[in-house]
Amino acid sequence: MAGNGKTIFSLILSGNIPSHKIYEDDSVYAFLDINPLSRGHTLVIPKEESPTMDCLSEKAAASLGQVLPKICRAIMKITGANDYNIIQNNGENAGQTVPYLHFHIIPKYPESNHSFIWEPNSIDHSDATELSKAILKELE
Ligand code: AMP
Repeated sequence: MAGNGKTIFSLILSGNIPSHKIYEDDSVYAFLDINPLSRGHTLVIPKEESPTMDCLSEKAAASLGQVLPKICRAIMKITGANDYNIIQNNGENAGQTVPYLHFHIIPKYPESNHSFIWEPNSIDHSDATELSKAILKELE
């Protein structure tokens, strides 16, 4: 948080902190990450202030989702990257450092040495049965 309770991304949106804008419409803003993992590393944020995905309105989520493919296409075309990761961290323990919802679009070049390889576990089918039923019911 900046001193006034605003996150750094709110200050970018209001124009109080500069950014390298790559896209803007009525509800979405996108700009280059200041510490990029690779050339073209972009952050896409909704104009509706929301700390994490679960707090975002369906309307703002729809606007974000609608433009993400277009932004990805432009980044790939301009950078020449063929591959990319979209990362979206929610909460400090999940690696979120700026408490304002954002998608990272991170081009992956053949020579890029960053990686997002994780160590998966085998699913526990008995827990998965219970878990999927509970979430399914919650979403009804
Ligand atoms: P996360 O760790 O998912 O919360 O990502 C926050 C991202 O915001 C990091 O990749 C930072 O490099 C980036 N960031 C922080 N401040 C700025 C800024 N002023 N302009 C652009 N990107 C920023």
